[in-house]
Amino acid sequence: MIELVLAQACIGCDKCIDACPTDVFDRGPDGIPQIARQSDCQTCFMCEAYCPTDALYVWPESTPLQDRSVLLDAEVGSYRAELGWGNGRTPGSRLAVGPSIPHGSLPPRLTVDELSS
Ligand code: SF4
Ligand code: SF4
Repeated sequence: MIELVLAQACIGCDKCIDACPTDVFDRGPDGIPQIARQSDCQTCFMCEAYCPTDALYVWPESTPLQDRSVLLDAEVGSYRAELGWGNGRTPGSRLAVGPSIPHGSLPPRLTVDELSS
């Protein structure tokens, strides 16, 4: 569930407002988004993924935090970092574990026997 907008990191680009499928944010008078309808949050992480300045933190549970002091240690923007989105980052898909896919070839498929075993 969305828990934190780090005002000092926010540049007021509205990307989180646009990305949110359930209209959780309102644009504040200072341009900083406000968490206006937290209970509508679907914990989809899209706002955090799209925030270009790593200014958002989505708590991975779908219920609100009871103890907000844990946010002092929150890894704000860590989901986006894990995806590898943002300047100087390696896309997470390049770091994923799995068989390498030969360039120009179809991805490897499991056989029927492998599926049933
Ligand atoms: S986690 Fe998803 S539903 Fe929740 S505020 Fe962010 S974009 Fe909206
Ligand atoms: S996406 Fe990030 S920088 Fe842009 S308005 Fe939202 S919190 Fe601020």
